[in-house]
Amino acid sequence: MNRTAVLLFTRDLRVHDNPTLAAACRLADRVVPLYVDDPGRASNPNQRRFMLESLDDLRVSLRAAGGDLVVRRGATAAQVAAVGEATGADLVVCASDAGRFAAGLRERLADVAELRVAPGPAVVEPGRLLPSGGGDHYRVFTPYWRAWSQARWRGVEPEPERLRTPNLPDSDELPPADATATHLPPGGERAALARLDAWAPGSDDYPDRHDDLAGDRTSRLSPYLALGCLSARELAADPRLPEALVRQLCWRDFHLQVLAAFPSLTDVPYRRGARDDWESDPAALEAWRRGETGVGIVDAGMRQLLAEGWMHNRARLITAGYLVKTLGLDWRAGAAWFARHLVDLDEANNWGNWQWTAGTGNDTRPNRGFNHERQAARFDPDGAYRRRWAPS
Ligand SMILES: Cc1cc2nc3c(=O)[nH]c(=O)nc-3n(C[C@H](O)[C@H](O)[C@H](O)COP(=O)(O)OP(=O)(O)OC[C@H]3O[C@@H](n4cnc5c(N)ncnc54)[C@H](O)[C@@H]3O)c2cc1C
Repeated sequence: MNRTAVLLFTRDLRVHDNPTLAAACRLADRVVPLYVDDPGRASNPNQRRFMLESLDDLRVSLRAAGGDLVVRRGATAAQVAAVGEATGADLVVCASDAGRFAAGLRERLADVAELRVAPGPAVVEPGRLLPSGGGDHYRVFTPYWRAWSQARWRGVEPEPERLRTPNLPDSDELPPADATATHLPPGGERAALARLDAWAPGSDDYPDRHDDLAGDRTSRLSPYLALGCLSARELAADPRLPEALVRQLCWRDFHLQVLAAFPSLTDVPYRRGARDDWESDPAALEAWRRGETGVGIVDAGMRQLLAEGWMHNRARLITAGYLVKTLGLDWRAGAAWFARHLVDLDEANNWGNWQWTAGTGNDTRPNRGFNHERQAARFDPDGAYRRRWAPS
């Protein structure tokens, strides 16, 4: 074997349990670690800031193993071709992913080099579990959870001790990110592991308190999972974590396999015959975006999103439910606003959950009502969350 491979990082910005990194080291003698900042990939300034910090952290880890990270800006396949030519690489290895961008990227990469695709962000790869009644993916969560829990998961990949690289070409200078949120978490694999280690020991109250808005007891690992600073596969097997948390990781896989089978999830109602006649009220939409609806619990959630680029899951459900079920506005407008701000933006999770909330997606009770007052009374009984984010 005398091969050089371009190791293309995408949403797997880590060195521990990274199947792409492990595959590249197995398949080639020399690897060219590359990240391409592709303007075609959906993101936002908050997630971009987080991504830049994650790249810095990844570079430190790769250097410690004797390698480095080449960073380029532009169309991914063209940059892979250019870097491949400069380094004599004849192979490109990248992670699988769901969605239109990822599918198009794989096609373009296959045109410029021999392509190997390693397991991606899921614990269980989309398409591996199929419903017994037929179909190319699971449409309902509970049977998926059963199959997922019993499935054999892939092995955890060891971190490579040493990376052999050829002479690496220069990196591009990436433009800085003008984050809009003022309280963003630090990016990178080290920060991810530190957050996990800080949260895991006290996580036994998660099953009881994950919906407590003011308590803020969820893991806040979502930005790290969205860019792969943390391995979902490893996390799902972490003995310190409660099953309720593992179930949430299964929801993540569930939406990924839906997106893989239905890439138009971002624009088209997933459920056949679902409602698609939404109201148009630009003033109400703008008030919702700014957290100025006058409904305390909704405004609190929307203002948390603006300040932190993150919102508690229960608040995401309440604010999204208010937009689609109370105001009757289009879920696509709500999802687009979330996509502009979420530091944990994830195509499958954002649009999958928006469609679920709107009743156009996988909810088995699509017409369920949504009462924000009852939600506030139940999940913010003494008003502490409302006072924190939307004091009157
Ligand atoms: C309208 C709406 C939009 C959303 N958009 C996103 C998004 O863009 N990115 C995103 O990561 N999550 C999204 N979610 C799911 C969920 O709100 C977040 O994953 C969660 O709030 C992140 O906080 P945490 O890491 O503390 O969660 P924890 O409760 O600690 O859960 C651990 C992990 O499980 C996964 N998870 C948790 N809840 C869900 C869920 N309902 N669906 C799928 N995966 C889940 C996440 O990866 C999360 O980090 C959305 C939910 C709704 C209702």
